[in-house]
Amino acid sequence: MTHPITAQRPDIAANLAFIRARIAEAAADPAHPPRLIAVSKTMEAGIVLEALRAGHRLFGENRVQEALSKFPALRAEFPDLELHLIGPLQTNKVKEAVAGFDAIQTVDREKLARALAAEMARSGRRIDCYVQVNTGEEPQKAGALPAEADALVALCRGELALPVVGLMCIPPAEEEPAPHFALLAKIARRNGLERLSMGMSGDFEVAASFGATEVRVGSAIFGVRA
Ligand SMILES: *Cc1c(COP(=O)(O)O)cnc(C)c1O
Repeated sequence: MTHPITAQRPDIAANLAFIRARIAEAAADPAHPPRLIAVSKTMEAGIVLEALRAGHRLFGENRVQEALSKFPALRAEFPDLELHLIGPLQTNKVKEAVAGFDAIQTVDREKLARALAAEMARSGRRIDCYVQVNTGEEPQKAGALPAEADALVALCRGELALPVVGLMCIPPAEEEPAPHFALLAKIARRNGLERLSMGMSGDFEVAASFGATEVRVGSAIFGVRA
């Protein structure tokens, strides 16, 4: 696999090490720092390969089609890599998503939850699910509203028996993220959910300090996307 060498190509190994160190320093529980999800959307396979060669194994992608065009070849070479879907999922892509990802972080509505449950039952492949919460109640953003999150979690874990492990959020871009991370942690606590996927390049340290178990970092590792 090859990739063009460009003048401003970031040093991915160095960025990964630097971000890991910052996460460890900011973590609410230093013994259990959040895992770093390297968000590789829009980055070609050769760039992802650099992160793999640097020892990184956990990745996030936001589009099913793009991820499934890049990752099967990488997985053949690095069978222990782990791939999370962090973008919206249409019900007609559920089959591919369950087959190609190791976790779905964007379970945000009943229809999708039902489709995932049906596909996991059909295929026998059960992968971790996170319920996405629209903590900022933004009309254009995916995610269950905070007031609806408990009911969606209950449906997923009860009737649908989905393997729900935690919650995920994307706070409004122009707001202080801390209250959103605190709200997500509170909803997780009252539902007995352990995992919290929150924090991106601009706020992963804040998220880590609020108990994130996964932070999703793209541009701070791979450089600014075109
Ligand atoms: C792109 C993306 C990220 C990473 O964003 P950066 O600001 O580049 O770190 C994290 N989470 C989601 C859901 C994304 O779509």
